[in-house]
Amino acid sequence: MNILILGSGGREHSLAWAVMQNPKCDKLIVAPGNAGIAQIADCADFDIEDGGEVVNFVAANAIDFVIVGPEAPLANGVADRLREAGVLVFGPSKAAARLEASKSFTKEICDAANAPTAGYSHFTNAEAAKAHIRKEGAPIVVKADGLAAGKGVIVAMDEQTALDAVDDMFGGAFGGAGAEVVIEEFMEGEEASFFILCDGKTALPVGTAQDHKRVGEGDTGPNTGGMGAYSPAPVLTDEIAQKALDQIVQPTIDEMAKRGTPYQGVLYVGLMIKDGQPRLVEYNVRFGDPECQVLMMRLGAQAFDLMHAAAEERLHETQVNWANDHAITVVMAANGYPGAYVKGSLIEGLETLVHDSKNMVFHAGTSSKGGAITATGGRVLNVTARGDSLQEARDRAYAMIDQIEWPEGFYRADIGWRAL
Ligand code: ATP
Repeated sequence: MNILILGSGGREHSLAWAVMQNPKCDKLIVAPGNAGIAQIADCADFDIEDGGEVVNFVAANAIDFVIVGPEAPLANGVADRLREAGVLVFGPSKAAARLEASKSFTKEICDAANAPTAGYSHFTNAEAAKAHIRKEGAPIVVKADGLAAGKGVIVAMDEQTALDAVDDMFGGAFGGAGAEVVIEEFMEGEEASFFILCDGKTALPVGTAQDHKRVGEGDTGPNTGGMGAYSPAPVLTDEIAQKALDQIVQPTIDEMAKRGTPYQGVLYVGLMIKDGQPRLVEYNVRFGDPECQVLMMRLGAQAFDLMHAAAEERLHETQVNWANDHAITVVMAANGYPGAYVKGSLIEGLETLVHDSKNMVFHAGTSSKGGAITATGGRVLNVTARGDSLQEARDRAYAMIDQIEWPEGFYRADIGWRAL
């Protein structure tokens, strides 16, 4: 089979790595890809958010199956264009991708599905939003309704912060994403992510993970795209995972199907867990990055069969072969990230590392010049390892990092602390 993966991050490198191990894959192209992906697959450059361009590329290259990595092409309807053209695709339609693209839509679905989540109100003007905040008091959570690259959420521990957030959002700080604002009850608890493959009807769990959003050790400093992750997440016990499936995930999938917008692809279920009860924080309509890296490390080649079964609506006859393993990924980022960071610095030592089913470095923002790897993005490498225990996986990942020479880069030395 000829396969196309859309995206260029560590997530897509790990997807490509898993797909390449499957004997059903004859040819793999990743668009646009990165320097690490180019070592295992062909890369192509075109506008992956333009459905017409994607369809043309698929036709010209005899692609049989497309896997969409990031949310932007999905929110733009790329999966719809592919389906209209008769191409098999893993990823939700534009209508179903609203589960990520609109927070008020997700809340509406939760109401209809009776899924446990934070209480909320929805506002289109600042005065009403501020009156609500004054009535409810802090802590309280203020969210821009649309996609804001993870920056449109203010968890306000005092009232003034919440009021200022409302002014910022209606003042245009998040562009169109802030034209509507959702104000939520503050939920206490521990967060974990639950990943579910869906084919419109059936929900198949493919793993749990916890990430590390803050840039600094001990979860300090500003938020990032994610500095590391591990799987499984011990807080998401089998019992709590089953509750999340029965009370949140399956009712959501049923509600989406009932509305004529079935959900197909991976559903990233962000949960808050307290006293054994999960509540929904958010849905994303794609794998998380870096959570995908630990999931792919654990699933290996079967990840392709699972995504293919989801696209062909065969999940009811599919199961995951679990090894009793653990995986961890430690992100290496360029000095300065998540603020302004250095670009173009040289990374050495990667070629001496062993790359196998237990040790992988997935690239994110890298490029290759005459064989030398340089850093071009903020998050640059995902050093990923698998073991019989989290400790074993973690020791392996940090041992790889010790061999990477990159003075202009940094990483968190405490990934996995919560579970260890
Ligand atoms: P991202 O995609 O980067 O995770 P997002 O913009 O989609 O972020 P959310 O996931 O809804 O936003 O919120 C971001 C973070 O804010 C959550 O991971 C959680 O830590 C916190 N948060 C969101 N809603 C609540 C809530 N109701 N109570 C407590 N914390 C919350």
